[in-house]
Amino acid sequence: MSYLTQQNRADIRAALEAQRGKLIKAMQAALEESGQTQFSEVLGRASGDSADEALAVTLGDLSAARLDHEVRALQALENARLRLDDEEFGLCVDCEAEIPVARLIANPVSTRCIACQSHFEHTHAGQQHGSI
Ligand SMILES: [Zn+2]
Repeated sequence: MSYLTQQNRADIRAALEAQRGKLIKAMQAALEESGQTQFSEVLGRASGDSADEALAVTLGDLSAARLDHEVRALQALENARLRLDDEEFGLCVDCEAEIPVARLIANPVSTRCIACQSHFEHTHAGQQHGSI
């Protein structure tokens, strides 16, 4: 059994959806500002699982639209959303420690415990996607 309760997962999912919504809004605002409303419209439609394919296509287009950072952040959120129901979700990918629920709620895309993340950032300086 996972150390996460149903309630923990529900809380993490809510945090994830909130971050996702915020990110999409920010991307839409950036796109509208630069007049790229065709992407913005697709992003607005791309909510829920049935839109994943449309979203993937849109994300490819958005990479070209110089929103690389946002695209990667959104992809990380999408990946976390897909993994959320996995038994291993919340376990550090490096040491398999249980990542504290509070950390997962603050940053649902966390895949490492704090110790491993800090080690990873020191050894992979400059390759980070930034914090969300
Ligand atoms: Zn770890």
